Amino acid sequence: MSVDRVDAVVVGAGVVGLAVARALALRGLETLVLEAETAIGTGTSSRNSEVIHAGLYYPTGSWKARLCVTGKAWLYDYCARRGVSHRRCGKLVVATSAAQHETLRALMAQAAANGVHDLCWLAADEARALEPALACTAAVLSPSTGIVDSHGLMLALQGDLEAAGGLVALACPVQQVRRVSGGFELDAGVQQVTRLGTRVLVNAAGLWAPALAARIEGLQSAQVPQAYFAKGSYYALSGRCPFSRLIYPVPEAAGLGVHLTLDLGGQARFGPDVEWVQPDREGRLDYRVDPARVGAFETEIRRYWPDLPGDSLQPAYSGVRPKLQAPGEPARDFCLQGPAEHGLPGLVNLFGIESPGLTACLALGEAAAALALGEPIPQRLSGL
Ligand SMILES: Cc1cc2nc3c(=O)[nH]c(=O)nc-3n(C[C@H](O)[C@H](O)[C@H](O)COP(=O)(O)OP(=O)(O)OC[C@H]3O[C@@H](n4cnc5c(N)ncnc54)[C@H](O)[C@@H]3O)c2cc1C
Repeated sequence: MSVDRVDAVVVGAGVVGLAVARALALRGLETLVLEAETAIGTGTSSRNSEVIHAGLYYPTGSWKARLCVTGKAWLYDYCARRGVSHRRCGKLVVATSAAQHETLRALMAQAAANGVHDLCWLAADEARALEPALACTAAVLSPSTGIVDSHGLMLALQGDLEAAGGLVALACPVQQVRRVSGGFELDAGVQQVTRLGTRVLVNAAGLWAPALAARIEGLQSAQVPQAYFAKGSYYALSGRCPFSRLIYPVPEAAGLGVHLTLDLGGQARFGPDVEWVQPDREGRLDYRVDPARVGAFETEIRRYWPDLPGDSLQPAYSGVRPKLQAPGEPARDFCLQGPAEHGLPGLVNLFGIESPGLTACLALGEAAAALALGEPIPQRLSGL
């Protein structure tokens, strides 16, 4: 079998894979993205809240904190330059009992430590002056939180990649990877398998990144993390939404709590909740939204919006978070696994790229490209 060669292969055409591929192509590498599905962005990248996160929640110095705070600035700038729809609508994180005020104060301190200095503490009446339908005992306003058209963003990234000479190949699942002299050789495709050689390989396969890593010959099994899956379901609000900002409760253990987000058309949806799931025998995840969860949603939402009308929530869609920790274990950071960890030059595995991966995509792209090429990580991302 003849082997076509490119400089770089990125596995997965989600928002992160496309951003990594763009970063590699802009450095002059001939870059190919291999995507298993028949369209870009059908995985987690089209099953999320589309929120541009400010960077409040993550431990200081973590990849999540650094890549989110820098990625947010880069993303706003990129969307403005490339005409990607977005809105800096702001969000309120709301306490619904005095017992939660300490958590809110801690959140403000965490945000400041992460370099987010624009938060504003609001007493209940100040919050209600902004959002009259809100019930709360206090709130924190995050003015730099926003929303983005994730599909428009992915199309822009793909456009940049192609303008720089790169390509996305659809319906092209990567089956197997072998280590060869000077790089990697991989088999991709279903009926017709293509063999490809590459110097640089970035595994941005999202939920399936650990499964793909397990098929990379030469990568030690100790380097392949156990994958866990945490589904989050959304319900859409039928009728007019009285809020103009995003509304978040104080965060929970495995997610940010059932929050209200708005799409760019002003339509409101609530979610995501947290349900630990497993793929079936064929390796598929069940994305259906269970209508029976509506009662729990209503209870959560009425804590901050007591006037939520009955029967106004419709099952909408769900997404699944690629987790690196088992239920009940402490939250884990993004894992950008490069040659320093696994010893294979040119290879980067991206594991556990859950929220805020959409916000951080451009920063993740730069960091992963630098790791793959043995360049220093840009200072704003390395925290050094
Ligand atoms: C419920 C939920 C809400 C979220 N909300 C937000 C938010 O508001 N803001 C935010 O910043 N982040 C949010 N996130 C996180 C964000 O959506 C993800 O971090 C981001 O979309 C991950 O992108 P990705 O490219 O890594 O993965 P994906 O979008 O899943 O892309 C991976 C791609 O790899 C492909 N693939 C897999 N295996 C192979 C293979 N062997 N060969 C070829 N292709 C393969 C898949 O088909 C898929 O297209 C949320 C996540 C979830 C689950």
